[in-house]
Amino acid sequence: MLALLCSVRFGISSAWRLVENWETMPNTAETWTSAAFCEQLRAAGLRPTRQRVTLAQLLFGEGDRHVSAECLHSEVTAAGEQISLATVYNTLHQFTRAGLLRALPVDGGKTYFDTNTSDHNHFFVETEGKLLDIPSESIRVEGLPEPPAGLKISHVDVVVRLVKTE
Ligand SMILES: [Zn+2]
Repeated sequence: MLALLCSVRFGISSAWRLVENWETMPNTAETWTSAAFCEQLRAAGLRPTRQRVTLAQLLFGEGDRHVSAECLHSEVTAAGEQISLATVYNTLHQFTRAGLLRALPVDGGKTYFDTNTSDHNHFFVETEGKLLDIPSESIRVEGLPEPPAGLKISHVDVVVRLVKTE
């Protein structure tokens, strides 16, 4: 189950490829990557602590993905790093508040975090606990109720739930 949850990776995360002064950085891949993630964290108003940089590398290093705190924590452990589940959870929420991630509460009390913060919707494969992107233009939501006075609709999350066909 965990392996399935961790295996959802697709697309390219463009936000993390933008590093303005990349030409001045050392050209070893590892140093460049760490420096790039530090830069992105600072740009988001977050101090680039070692733990945040480690988590950012795992989250944003290989294209867009949907990940739970538990899944990311197991990846951290597998990478030989010692970061508690509570810290992983707190950091995911800090990244979300900073606009780097989008939180998707789709599975009971469990929240998934999406590295793709653009406007899009999701299939949720209930039997596998797996999220798949649906492009925003594929779904049109009509007849939304008027929000109460003083409030406006920020966005609408559509989750289409799937089960296996026998
Ligand atoms: Zn998504």
